[in-house]
Amino acid sequence: MAFFLTTGTSAVDSFDVVVIGSGPAGVAVVERLYEERPNATIAMIERGSTLLRRHFYSNGALIGERDRFLARHQVCPWKGDLDEGGALLPALGGRGIVGGSQLHRFYASDLTLWQNGLWPLTEGELDPYFREAETRLLGGSRCGGPAQEHVCKALASLDARHPPCGSAVDTERRPSAGLPHISSVERLLALLAMDRAAPYRRLRLFTDTRAVRLVADPARRRQISRLRCVPSGESRGAYFDVRGGTFVLAASAVESARLVLASGVQALNGASTNVGRYLMEHIYCRGYLDVSSRQEMPHGPINVFVPPQNAALENRFQVEICSVLHPADGRSVLRVTGSAAMDPQRQNRVTLSPDHVDGHGVPRASTVLRLSPGDERRKASLLRGLQDISALLGGSWLAPPVVMPRGASYHEAGTLRIAHSPAEGAAAPDGSLFGWDNVFAGDGSAFPSVGVANPILTITAMGYRLADRLASRLGTFERA
Ligand SMILES: Cc1cc2nc3c(=O)[nH]c(=O)nc-3n(C[C@H](O)[C@H](O)[C@H](O)COP(=O)(O)OP(=O)(O)OC[C@H]3O[C@@H](n4cnc5c(N)ncnc54)[C@H](O)[C@@H]3O)c2cc1C
Repeated sequence: MAFFLTTGTSAVDSFDVVVIGSGPAGVAVVERLYEERPNATIAMIERGSTLLRRHFYSNGALIGERDRFLARHQVCPWKGDLDEGGALLPALGGRGIVGGSQLHRFYASDLTLWQNGLWPLTEGELDPYFREAETRLLGGSRCGGPAQEHVCKALASLDARHPPCGSAVDTERRPSAGLPHISSVERLLALLAMDRAAPYRRLRLFTDTRAVRLVADPARRRQISRLRCVPSGESRGAYFDVRGGTFVLAASAVESARLVLASGVQALNGASTNVGRYLMEHIYCRGYLDVSSRQEMPHGPINVFVPPQNAALENRFQVEICSVLHPADGRSVLRVTGSAAMDPQRQNRVTLSPDHVDGHGVPRASTVLRLSPGDERRKASLLRGLQDISALLGGSWLAPPVVMPRGASYHEAGTLRIAHSPAEGAAAPDGSLFGWDNVFAGDGSAFPSVGVANPILTITAMGYRLADRLASRLGTFERA
């Protein structure tokens, strides 16, 4: 089904590259491309406005305040299994402005563990991009002090560790200290400032602007020439087109697939029937552990993680342990969160809702996300793992671990996954959609499997990899 707006067009400028979405994915592509190709002109389209200019924690806020901030701003453009929890933060910087208390590399074994989700690239190929992502993103401090050390020691048999961080200045200031990373919004604003100071401008940001349709070029087979956009706040039917040589989908795994489906381009040029397929996220379990009665537990901030214990599929989960303040009495409790992988399954997918449209008349995304028998076993194993952690730390559950609603992990992936052939995925290993030469999956939609690690670092590394491919192709596609 293709979606058409009917009135109010005006053509805006033309760009070498048009990036849809300003979260960690889109910003990674833009920052690398901007630096690598000094002549490239780039447009970034973001449906939200500027809510923050730095990462949430860098503004001095705590986790509880972040939850209130999220509740105030997040929207759910998705129906179906993700409806209860799946949500976007439409804002400059996307969910990168609140997410990222822990930034992990995708575990190398997860690239090859999932037989129907093999990554068409190697750990060695990704390594330089990971190193660059770590240099740019990791904050300069980490939780330190006796409480942090105590938890690491108590969980040593599970190989508990400090999360990755930059220069590793320990801080004991508050529970959220040591959490923030250099967020997408900060990096993008720095780039815009640099662009303003340059002799001529080549980076243009459209905020409060929703991309609603990729428009194919009738004169050029296999190419998209324009992106149809609607400005928020305008009357329904108003739109303008942004022209480009290359288009990067970085609107989040569900929204990027929705845009492709709503444009109808997956039905042309013999494109893959896998568009929207293999939706995954992490099975997310959370409990709150009260250790305040443990004499041996020192006071102070805690931010620790427990990696997967081995490569058995059943044990592909990791656990984050973070101190938070109890909302009623301000005592410090441990928030224990487990993220388990989901098997890639073709029947888990994003489609266009037949009967729900958004405020611009575009069909909402409808999702199916069901657990496989292997997922059920992994979930049970994760819940046992959380009990082991509680036994090692002592204390009692204030709220025992529960499996959170689908979508609650915010780690969706896989809807335009990269693969060697259209039979296995929706995009080629370089990210280009099968059937199209100038449209690229640039966010978690490109992941063939979701693995265990939380995704910002891998999304960023993949964004740098994509930017390198685009830099070498610029000029191949004329701007329409
Ligand atoms: C509370 C919270 C905690 C998290 N913690 C961590 C963590 O510790 N570590 C980690 O790695 N990850 C974490 N995450 C997940 C992480 O934030 C996301 O995986 C990541 O932001 C995804 O990046 P993205 O750029 O693909 O998508 P997003 O960050 O969602 O950005 C997509 C952007 O595209 C825009 N957009 C969507 N549709 C359109 C459209 N049609 N037109 C124009 N713009 C559009 C959206 O407004 C949004 O700004 C957390 C997320 C949350 C919410």
